Amino acid sequence: MEYNSDNVFAKILRGEIPTNKIYEDEYALAFYDIAPKAKIHALVISKAMAVDFEDFVEHSTASEIEGYMRAIVRTAEKLGVIKEGYRLVFNSGKNSGQEVPHLHAHILGGEPLPTNHM
Ligand code: AMP
Repeated sequence: MEYNSDNVFAKILRGEIPTNKIYEDEYALAFYDIAPKAKIHALVISKAMAVDFEDFVEHSTASEIEGYMRAIVRTAEKLGVIKEGYRLVFNSGKNSGQEVPHLHAHILGGEPLPTNHM
């Protein structure tokens, strides 16, 4: 799928839609999900214009991939979920139910999470 910069996360990156920011660096921006599915539910979006996980990995440099992965860890630290544990989810494509076609990781935690599908 071709990247389309009309999506809501591209608008957030351009500052056109406000968010509740948790963390930001040159690779990523993290904020709280607007419709939380766990006590703590954050999103870490890449600053690269990638549709999904595969698009990002195939078209990014090693340092961009590393920077994005480290930004996820920095966000988990800021959320305070490392000690008790958390779940990382990358929805990719139709069968996953991916709604927003811009790479993002969900960080879920703050309570014991349901184990179905995982
Ligand atoms: P996905 O289904 O993996 O594409 O997840 C997209 C997520 O983005 C959903 O959990 C939505 O609740 C969340 N979302 C959509 N719009 C916003 C927004 N403006 N601010 C924060 N989260 C959003």
